[in-house]
Amino acid sequence: MTGNLAHKVLLDRAFAHRFVLGFGALIEEHWHYLTQLDAAIGDADHGINMRRGMKTVYLVVGDLPRMSPGELFHETGTRLAFTVGGAAGPLYGTVFLSMAQVVADDEVVMPGRLVAATDAALAGIRRLGAAEEGDKTMVDAFAPAVRAMRSALTGGREPAEVLDAAARAAAEGMTATIPLRALKGRASYLGPRSEGHQDPGATSTALLFQALATAC
Ligand code: ADP
Ligand code: MG
Repeated sequence: MTGNLAHKVLLDRAFAHRFVLGFGALIEEHWHYLTQLDAAIGDADHGINMRRGMKTVYLVVGDLPRMSPGELFHETGTRLAFTVGGAAGPLYGTVFLSMAQVVADDEVVMPGRLVAATDAALAGIRRLGAAEEGDKTMVDAFAPAVRAMRSALTGGREPAEVLDAAARAAAEGMTATIPLRALKGRASYLGPRSEGHQDPGATSTALLFQALATAC
């Protein structure tokens, strides 16, 4: 391949499918771990919930002709909102539905639009759950990921680097939830006893950004 083409990354239908199916595969691989994390500070169902939701996405997406990125995100968001349950269902539903709204009918999602889409997803999570950064929720992985994406993009980075930066930032945000005291969600009932445990939702969010980076 000639120079530039070798680096060209198209955020197209195939990319969107790799992302969503990749997220499903990561949830399938880690659902037990997510549930263990939730057992420590919640009710031991986060991995079960996410697995149930992503399975319904997986089944339909594998069978249908390839949807556009916006259609796929809309389908994914609707299914997650209806099947995941718990706090995470509506939150992950909102993530994908907000992304669908921003991506709209684009056949190829320009990197700037993808950043705007994840930004809208974060705004959706905040609107629904009213969590701030530091409250020990999925916001603690999501917010730094969006920030990292935006600064990599303004720094003129390639799409793959932008998404790598996001995945790294989400993973750091996830680990940084360990010492925090939960102020939102079920874990907040534990007060200081929530300290010293990694937040399950921040962990699944790190998987989401890992799937995005891997799809590139
Ligand atoms: P539930 O707590 O209802 O059992 P899950 O176990 O599926 O739901 O999901 C728990 C995760 O949801 C938490 O680890 C946290 O990251 C996330 N979460 C809970 N409440 C909120 C909130 N208000 N804002 C953002 N995320 C939240
Ligand atoms: Mg739970």
